[in-house]
Amino acid sequence: MDKMLGFFVTGPGEGGVRMGPIPKPGIGQALIRLEYAGICGGDPAIFAHNNYGGTPEDPRVTGHEFYGRVVAINNPEGRPCRVKVGDMVVGPQDAPCGICDQCLAGRPSICSGQYGARRRPSGCFAEYFERDFDRLFPIAPGVDPLVAAIAEPLAVAVFDVRFSRVGMGDHVLIIGAGAIGILIGLLARHNGASQVVFAELSQHRLDLMASMGFGTLHSAKDDVAAEAHRLTGGAGMDYVFETSGSQPGWDTSLAAVRHGGTVVPVGLPYVDRKVDFGTIYRKEIDLLSVNMHQAGDFAKGVDLINSGVLNDDFRRLVTSVWPLEKAKEALDASVDKSGRDIKILLKPGLDEQIVFD
Ligand SMILES: [Zn+2]
Ligand SMILES: [Zn+2]
Repeated sequence: MDKMLGFFVTGPGEGGVRMGPIPKPGIGQALIRLEYAGICGGDPAIFAHNNYGGTPEDPRVTGHEFYGRVVAINNPEGRPCRVKVGDMVVGPQDAPCGICDQCLAGRPSICSGQYGARRRPSGCFAEYFERDFDRLFPIAPGVDPLVAAIAEPLAVAVFDVRFSRVGMGDHVLIIGAGAIGILIGLLARHNGASQVVFAELSQHRLDLMASMGFGTLHSAKDDVAAEAHRLTGGAGMDYVFETSGSQPGWDTSLAAVRHGGTVVPVGLPYVDRKVDFGTIYRKEIDLLSVNMHQAGDFAKGVDLINSGVLNDDFRRLVTSVWPLEKAKEALDASVDKSGRDIKILLKPGLDEQIVFD
């Protein structure tokens, strides 16, 4: 048996689920059998070959958020290895060089590639895929697999909240209540933020945020910047996390943040955006750029999942599970702007789609 089902991209916006070769793990790699894969906001863009989604070589399997079982390890040199065959694991999406200035500084997500292009492992929208075993993390027995499946976006949120130093008593506005935004909100609150408010266009998502105890503002019906000032005694928000990547999201961020506050652009803009540097200058706004996650963030996220402290909240992000065979339809559903779905998972061998309330 050397064939598997995978979602193969064959050209811009072209491709589908078909049989292909099972990747062979090289030395230092593990072969993983997929349990659940998560659809990221970036995946439809990668499928469409949008610039910001990267320029994949075709044909190839896409997808990077996974939870799966180690079925083989290629380790002839007997290198120290955190995982063993049979372990349930998660891990980051890329394979940085490990030896450039940025990698050595603990910033593999901005690996300079100065010693050769960073590798892109095969995508996880497939029954099997390979990963460097030193970048895999075991999930503790008893953890809900649907929670484990969000480890990758959680690592992104861990980076965003850790790097920006949101803490005790801070006032936080999050623009966009998608998976990353919600995870940032949960971690900011966990860190002691005194209020966390979401601005969002989807009433469905606003209702979900309210049910999770967050403040809510409607991005179209409310004057979000004015409300941000009203909610903070006129000061403005200490932190604004912009997760929508939209022009109004950017404009609102700069207007809603307090003087000397911090704006974190999290959402990828898929077209060019205008940024008002006059306001940034006048208010001395700190702009913190964040790209994926840094060394240690993935381990911290996995530790949170294995501890279970926030897992009931994390679990609410997963709104549906689709058969891997329907990856194309699931990708289309993931861009539905009604906001019904937060995180869509794919599962190989699933008979029919499961939708959670
Ligand atoms: Zn992702
Ligand atoms: Zn590097």
